[in-house]
Amino acid sequence: MVSYDSEVTYQLRDLNDWRFPGTSLAVLGFPVRHSISPAMHNAAIADLAAKDSQFSEWRYFRFEVEPEKLPQALPQFFEKGFFGLNLTVPHKEIAFGLITSIDSAAVEIGAVNTLKRGPDGYYGYNTDGYGLSKGIEEDLSASLAGSDIAILGAGGAARAAAVQALQSDCQSLCIVNRSADRLENLLGSLQPIAREKCIPVKGFSAQDTSLEFADHTLIINATSLGLNSSDPLPIPEDRLPQTAALYDMIYNPRTTKLMKTVSDRGGRSANGLSMLVYQGLRALEIWSDRKIDPRNMKQAASSALASKA
Ligand code: NDP
Repeated sequence: MVSYDSEVTYQLRDLNDWRFPGTSLAVLGFPVRHSISPAMHNAAIADLAAKDSQFSEWRYFRFEVEPEKLPQALPQFFEKGFFGLNLTVPHKEIAFGLITSIDSAAVEIGAVNTLKRGPDGYYGYNTDGYGLSKGIEEDLSASLAGSDIAILGAGGAARAAAVQALQSDCQSLCIVNRSADRLENLLGSLQPIAREKCIPVKGFSAQDTSLEFADHTLIINATSLGLNSSDPLPIPEDRLPQTAALYDMIYNPRTTKLMKTVSDRGGRSANGLSMLVYQGLRALEIWSDRKIDPRNMKQAASSALASKA
């Protein structure tokens, strides 16, 4: 009898004789060893199962899948009966091109992070924007709606944040990025929704001397600067508004240099753990069709992170 362990990082070859008797869910990424999603989801599933026995055989696993193998991997997960999948770096954009049925919010973002099994294949969603919005509400008592927003970065996470900000009717949106081509590309793809909603959208390079934010600007760091303690700030300190509110999508380390700088200047800052929790919570709600209590997920995410420190 094969045993299945949600602490293990499985490989694609492990799918060949996958016979987990319950309902399998998984996160796919490359690398994925660091992912705390299994701990977070299995805690929430245990809570669900305590109230409803139909969830007692649900289990969430972790699979390392190389990006070039994703096109062959998704049909294999489907064939092996996986009910739900989460996609993390670098699969969100790749999977978007492989899935035919996609939720309208994910279409705007051009990336999917959650797949749910349908009769003929997976249906794609993106729950990152929901996670960001809930995280900002909870940790900063702020709202994307009606705010002047500055997003640092123009990668996948920045794109999800920008679409969410526009869909939430922010007051204005400013995007700051190192490379001009990625910035232009993002600005161009946001134009239709910005025009429809009459929301001004501007772009700047991080070193642009004309870069200036109003005092109440809500800053979202969606660059990977801050993952390492030696990283420079994503924008020069003198560009930061005096009393900024900062949501840094990075959650490991728990306090980035940018968060500390903003706090030292009298602003408020929060890390991205709540975004991670709420994007996962929304995915589990989509799969289970149940309302999920965030408390167990938060607790499990914090413990899993602490054990990795
Ligand atoms: P991408 O690789 O798609 O984008 C990375 C971004 O960081 C780009 O804008 C890139 O700029 C910028 N960047 C990277 N290195 C540098 C550097 N040395 N100097 C200046 N800019 C730099 O990554 P993602 O968008 O997927 O993720 C971005 C961050 O968000 C990561 O830290 C990730 O962990 C976090 N994240 C958190 C989530 C959560 O749930 N809390 C969810 C998703 C992401 P350029 O275009 O110039 O290369």
